[in-house]
Amino acid sequence: MSLPLDDIHATGKALELVTEAAVPYLDSLSTRPVSDPDTAALIGELGGPLPERGDGTVDGVARLLRIGTSAATHSAGPRFFHFVVGGSTPAALAGDWIASLLDQNPGNWAASPFGTQAETVVLGWLKDLFGLPASYGGVLTTSATSANFTALSAARFWWAERHGVDVTTDGLAGLPPMPVFSSGYVHVSTRKALQMLGLGRDTVRRFARDDAGRIDLHALDRALAEADGPAVIVANAGDVNTGDFDPIDEMAELAERHGAWLHVDGAFGLFAAVSPRTRHLVSGIERADSVISDGHKWLNVPYESGFAFVRDPALLGRAFGAWDAPYLPGEGDEHVNYQFLGPDSSRRARALPIWATLRAYGREGHRAMVERHLDLAAHLGRLVEEAPDLELLAPVQLCVVCFRYRRPDVTDLDALNARLGAELLVDGRVFAGTTVYRGMTALRPAIVNWRTTEADVELLVSIVREIGARLSG
Ligand SMILES: *Cc1c(COP(=O)(O)O)cnc(C)c1O
Repeated sequence: MSLPLDDIHATGKALELVTEAAVPYLDSLSTRPVSDPDTAALIGELGGPLPERGDGTVDGVARLLRIGTSAATHSAGPRFFHFVVGGSTPAALAGDWIASLLDQNPGNWAASPFGTQAETVVLGWLKDLFGLPASYGGVLTTSATSANFTALSAARFWWAERHGVDVTTDGLAGLPPMPVFSSGYVHVSTRKALQMLGLGRDTVRRFARDDAGRIDLHALDRALAEADGPAVIVANAGDVNTGDFDPIDEMAELAERHGAWLHVDGAFGLFAAVSPRTRHLVSGIERADSVISDGHKWLNVPYESGFAFVRDPALLGRAFGAWDAPYLPGEGDEHVNYQFLGPDSSRRARALPIWATLRAYGREGHRAMVERHLDLAAHLGRLVEEAPDLELLAPVQLCVVCFRYRRPDVTDLDALNARLGAELLVDGRVFAGTTVYRGMTALRPAIVNWRTTEADVELLVSIVREIGARLSG
């Protein structure tokens, strides 16, 4: 039998195994494919019955390390352009290990003044980094989806209160549907947040003036005027297909005129605020009622990391706080208790990897990282424009490049590009995914990993052209 207490002497050895494997693994990311061929058998080794007698600390950890370092998708590396997936800066990775080492629960101050204070500090630093007012309330979440949920919970509380209902205590019964208006860029996670909030994901009305989804401000204005009571506007800072932005300032103008709530989903696009070159894309965010973003995308902090900011800090507490449990802190507590400001109760010290990376690289380091990705995206855009068999489908504004493979002798380009996208993932040397943009099946690589170089984006272009030629030849 293996008991952790009997095996306590093995702690150092198990951790050493991880650190010994870590540097060679991380070094290998620059050259190895995104996924190794034939990982299925290895992944299968995860299975089998629950062990009756455990392997013991060292053997159990060694097994996981052996399987994981080969079978994992090497998405922490520089050529995973699928979705919007960041890597981990060295400091963020180490900070995350420290979070596991210390195993804090910064849900409430009494459980961890250190973890709670770290969260308060990083929320302040992040507001400063993005140019958001220091007076905004905030909380760390697991993701942008849960941050959208958190911010829209605050919006829902605000909206219900305007109808004379305390939705926290009394729920939604008797209330009309909450009007939620956006552009065609609205992300699925906002709709998921609405579905979790009991508001329904199909209630979002999308006002688009073209097939790309760009906002129709006149239609939005009209809908706000006609709405039954206050509405919630969702502005999208960074559309996932092209990296395009809703005009936040203009939407803030409408929100102010009609007494609506303005929510900004900036899961990756909020990082435009970090560089003077792209800051204009998010102009007006400081007028929003709520703003969210992800740590595990462009901040390059390990999963799971997101954050939500709300103009009126009291609303997070109203939406998530006050449970009347005698063993928990109460409403009048002089310290902040983050479990009352977001969906999680017990929670990981998510602040530590964020603290570590911001402390290690500072505003300048993170700005340089963002600008490097802007340059790489522009470079990729130019390579696409120069290639006779590639077609750039939207201007490159940020870190996403939307393009497709095209040849005059191929009639069904959508089918070809869909097969190309699928082949890329089987091939494994680089990863990029397809989308449908303005009715066209297209690739939409996103560049947000600190390790990515010019050579990596050049490799993406040459592999796409190679596979495209093979499939159409
Ligand atoms: C990725 C993304 C989300 C969801 O983020 P998760 O961290 O995956 O929950 C929300 N909105 C936009 C615009 C995104 O790109």
